[in-house]
Amino acid sequence: MKIKLLAASVLSLSFLVSTTTLAQTAPDYDALIKQAHQKYKNNNDGKVADYIPALATYSPQNFAITIATVDGKIYQTGDVKKAFPMESLSKVFTMALAMEQHGPKEVLDKLGANATGLPFNSGLAVELTKGAPENPLVNAGAMSTVSLVEAKDKTDRWNKILNNLNAWADASLTVNEPVFKSEMDTNQHNQALAQLMESYNSFYGDTREAVEIYTRQCSVDVTTEQLAKMGAVLANNGKSPYTGKQLLNEKYVPQVLAEMAIAGLYDGSGKWLYTVGLPAKSGVGGGMVAVVPGKYAIAVYSPPLDSAGNSVRAQQTIEYVAQATQSNLFLAK
Ligand code: GLU
Repeated sequence: MKIKLLAASVLSLSFLVSTTTLAQTAPDYDALIKQAHQKYKNNNDGKVADYIPALATYSPQNFAITIATVDGKIYQTGDVKKAFPMESLSKVFTMALAMEQHGPKEVLDKLGANATGLPFNSGLAVELTKGAPENPLVNAGAMSTVSLVEAKDKTDRWNKILNNLNAWADASLTVNEPVFKSEMDTNQHNQALAQLMESYNSFYGDTREAVEIYTRQCSVDVTTEQLAKMGAVLANNGKSPYTGKQLLNEKYVPQVLAEMAIAGLYDGSGKWLYTVGLPAKSGVGGGMVAVVPGKYAIAVYSPPLDSAGNSVRAQQTIEYVAQATQSNLFLAK
């Protein structure tokens, strides 16, 4: 009887040990991203952005996925060599720079942390709040963020912003000049938003300068690998797993992620959080990044967008991987 009991407890102990080991085993990221690529590559829903004419030249077939983990591993598949303009993705990292310089209280007071419930470039949103941009991830708030960056002059402002993007991406990023030119030629709406903000004293520098630098940061090219590495800094408490540099005060990381959860997918943000439960950011160039704190970041590139301006395949891919890895932040862990 005693022997039977002993054997049973040894068995249950080894079961416990093996399930614990299983629970700790890293997900097979490589297999997951390949499955997602296969599953969604033929979904042709959505439309490539054309309100910035240069963006309309990108192939709707482009599709790349990269996962960057907090322990410095990279998994990728698809058109990972193809670079694309960051567009709104850049807003996250310039917001982080402003937060590093001024702290989260000033960011909250001057830029806000509420959803507008309106499109990303809405003038009505600015008007309704008498100039409060509501958050740093809509165009009005992002241009105001650029104006808030502490800098001596225009060149210094740009250098600070580009150096910050480079440090996060662990790369020397470059501006896509045709995209920059195309966007500068057609950014009257953003100029109007900046001036509207200024009329309500919600702008902290010269509007022309800020709009130009904002447009330049949106035109910086990245690959999904670089974007995933940028996201991995947030997943890793503000420290790059690749260079070991602390790029954002670890105490401020939750505030950056909160802004992403509130407004990262514009007026699609609530539905995204409800469905997937992860802070994420999209850009009209077709890029998107999501962050799983303490674990990994996933970056996807696929140009066709839904009506809110978010990449269709990127949302599907991230949802697929997040579900398979049980990454929803609202799940008890
Ligand atoms: N540069 C774009 C604009 O200002 C960014 C928009 C986006 O990616 O959502 O319209």
